[in-house]
Amino acid sequence: MKYDAIIIGGGAAGLYLAAHLSPLKVLVLEKNNRLGLKLLASGSGQCNLTHGGDIKAFYSHYGEHKNFVKFSLSHHDNKAVIRYFESHGLKCTEREDGKVFPATLRSNDVLETLLNAIRDNRNAKIMKEVKLTEVLFDESTYTVRTDHGDFCSTNLIVATGGMTYSRLGTTGDGYVIAEKLGHRVVEAKPGLTSVHCDDRNLLELSGLTFKNIHISMGREGQKTRRFTGDLLLTHFGLSGPVILDNSRNFEKGDRLEIQFVDMTYEALDRFFLGIAGDNGEKPLAFFMNKLDIPDRLKPVILASSGAKKELRLSEVTKPIRKEFIKHLTAYPVKVQSLTGEASAMVTVGGVALEDVSAKHLMSRLKEGLYFIGEVLDIDGDSGGYNLQWAFSSAKTVADHIIKNNRQ
Ligand SMILES: Cc1cc2nc3c(=O)[nH]c(=O)nc-3n(C[C@H](O)[C@H](O)[C@H](O)COP(=O)(O)OP(=O)(O)OC[C@H]3O[C@@H](n4cnc5c(N)ncnc54)[C@H](O)[C@@H]3O)c2cc1C
Repeated sequence: MKYDAIIIGGGAAGLYLAAHLSPLKVLVLEKNNRLGLKLLASGSGQCNLTHGGDIKAFYSHYGEHKNFVKFSLSHHDNKAVIRYFESHGLKCTEREDGKVFPATLRSNDVLETLLNAIRDNRNAKIMKEVKLTEVLFDESTYTVRTDHGDFCSTNLIVATGGMTYSRLGTTGDGYVIAEKLGHRVVEAKPGLTSVHCDDRNLLELSGLTFKNIHISMGREGQKTRRFTGDLLLTHFGLSGPVILDNSRNFEKGDRLEIQFVDMTYEALDRFFLGIAGDNGEKPLAFFMNKLDIPDRLKPVILASSGAKKELRLSEVTKPIRKEFIKHLTAYPVKVQSLTGEASAMVTVGGVALEDVSAKHLMSRLKEGLYFIGEVLDIDGDSGGYNLQWAFSSAKTVADHIIKNNRQ
C-alpha cells in the first residue's frame, strides 16, 4: 500500500500532524517503544504546552528566526492550539506567568488526546520500535526502508526532534536524513542550558532568585549585550529564564556581569559617597542595608570584593570602594561550561531554514518532503514556545498536504 504521508517520529510535532491528517492514509514510524516521550517529560510532567497573550509577541522568542516562524505561528496560533485541545475534551489553564498547561497538569492527557484523535482516523497507522535504515526518493515516491520492511508514500515528513536529551530517542537522525537528501544542516548544540561557574561565594547562594535582573555579556571586539529576566542561583552556577532563554548566545569562557543593584556604577558610587559623607562612623553594613538586596547576598558581595563589613564608611579606600560598587552593579561570572547535551531541553541548530519554505515547511529541494518541530534550526525560549512551534509547524504541514494531496 502507498501512504499519503509517512511521518518519521512520534513526538509532539509528528503526533499533532497525524491527528490533523484524517482521512488520509498516514503512517507514523517511531523508534521508541513509547510515543511522545519528550512531550511526557515536558514541564516536569505537567506539559507547558503554549503561552498566553498575542501570537505576535511570540515571534521574538525564537532567537534570530522571527521571520521564519511567524508564518506557521500565525497560521495556527496559541489560541488555536488551546481550542484544539479543549474541543477534544482537555481543558487548559493559564498561569499568572502566562504559561499554559492542561488543567489536569498531566502531560499524559495531552498525549492521550492526540492518540485518540489519530485512532479516529481508520486510515492512520502507528508503528513503534521501528529501525529506519534508508530513505529513497524516485521523483514521485518516497521509500522508507526499515527493519519491518519498506514503506512508500507521496509525502514524507521528518519529525525526529533534535539531538539533546537523547535518552528520550532524539539522536539527531533527522539531520542525517536531511543531508542524504541534499539539505544543509546547521551545527547542532545544546539550548536552554544553565551556566556552570566556579565562584565558590556565588555557589553558596544556591536557591536564591532575583526578579527582572539585568545580565550583560561582553566579548572582546564585540558590542556588550544585555539580557533581562528572572535569575536563579544554583549549586553549580546560574539558571532561571534570563540564563536559559539567552543561553544560545553564551559560550565557554564568556564573561557575564550580574547587576544586583538596578543603578549604574556611577550612580551607586555617588549614592555611596553621599551616605558616607554624612555617616562616616557607620560600618559598611549600614550602607548595604540601604540597598534593596537579599541578606544572603550581602556577605558574598563583601567577600568577593575584598571589603570587611566592620570597615567604617570613612575608612573605605577608593580601590575598595571601586571593587565593592563593581560587584553590586556588575558582578563578574566566567562561564566555565554550559549544561551538556544530556540535559539540555532543546537543540540549537538543525535543518537549515534556507532549504525549507517558511510558508509550507516543504523542502526547497524535494517536492513532498517536509520538516517540522525541533529538527529544524528553530529553538524557542522556555515558557511553552517549543511545543507551540511543534504544534504550529505540524498544522501548517497538515493543511498544505491536505490541500495539495498528491496521489
Ligand atoms: C525535560 C524537557 C522538558 C521540556 N519542557 C517543555 C515545556 O514545558 N514546554 C515546551 O514548550 N517545550 C518543552 N520542552 C521542549 C519540547 O519538549 C520539544 O521542543 C518538543 O517535544 C519537540 O517536538 P518534536 O516533535 O519536534 O520532537 P520530539 O518530541 O523530541 O519527538 C521526536 C520523536 O522522533 C523520534 N525519532 C527520532 N529519530 C527517529 C528515527 N530515526 N526513527 C523513528 N523515530 C525517531 C523520537 O524517538 C521522538 O519520539 C522540554 C524538553 C525537555 C527535554
